[in-house]
Amino acid sequence: MTNNPVKREKFIGVIAIATFLVTCSITVGTLLAFRKHPSAIVTQDVPVSSNQVQSPVTPQSPPVVKPTNLNFTVPVQYQGKTVYKVQLNSNEKVIALTFDDGPWPKTTPEILDILKQNQIKATFFWVGQAIQANPDMAKRIVAEGHAIGNHTWHHWYKRMNQATAKSEIERTSDLIYKTTGVKTQLFRPPGGVLNNGLATYAKNQKNAVVMWSLTSADTDPRAKYQVFVKNVVKSAKPGDIVLMHDGGGDRRRTVQALPAIIDGLKQQGYKFVTVNELLEMKP
Ligand SMILES: [Zn+2]
Repeated sequence: MTNNPVKREKFIGVIAIATFLVTCSITVGTLLAFRKHPSAIVTQDVPVSSNQVQSPVTPQSPPVVKPTNLNFTVPVQYQGKTVYKVQLNSNEKVIALTFDDGPWPKTTPEILDILKQNQIKATFFWVGQAIQANPDMAKRIVAEGHAIGNHTWHHWYKRMNQATAKSEIERTSDLIYKTTGVKTQLFRPPGGVLNNGLATYAKNQKNAVVMWSLTSADTDPRAKYQVFVKNVVKSAKPGDIVLMHDGGGDRRRTVQALPAIIDGLKQQGYKFVTVNELLEMKP
């Protein structure tokens, strides 16, 4: 039989078809085996990121920066008292930077950026009208962990009766709370005026009337910013409360002065605290 060339060709043909069928069945079997383990294929071949894109997306709210503190209460011994600075027995080199009359467009965010770069928390004394005009900026100040004080609604210096003084302070307190959730016992009278009815009302409500022991004099319209730097850096003492302004006028020179003020104080070894942190330190 094998000597017959036709029959030999038929035999070879059968062998070839059989080989083809066996190869096909192995291939299909292999593919089926992989289909049983699709996850193995995915993890090997599909990048994790595209896998995440394909998976159903759970809607998430943007990350919220949670302030560490929304209640700026003061220790009992400072409630109803006027404070200029804190005399520390330890002579620990701490100092409190304060900014008045904001929140204010442009200069307040610039000051916040400088404070953030230096990891410094400061204290902001707000004017009610300014909060009303710049509520988002007020929220940012609180979100970034700074302390808040009340600086009245209109920033009036004039003598006022008790009803007006109450309105100036409580209207501002209410808006601070409605805008940011903050409650504060820190009060600073506009212009540092202590005898026009405001400070008396604030003390009766157990606030601390927070003055200052060192001023940058940054409201001087003629001085160059280098003068503000010198005013603070040359005279700083432990426990000082430093007066500056982020609002109420053109405060670009305060923004210019702030990095050098911070550097000068850091070089002297100062650490920066908020006013309520300063009041909580043991005298
Ligand atoms: Zn002021």
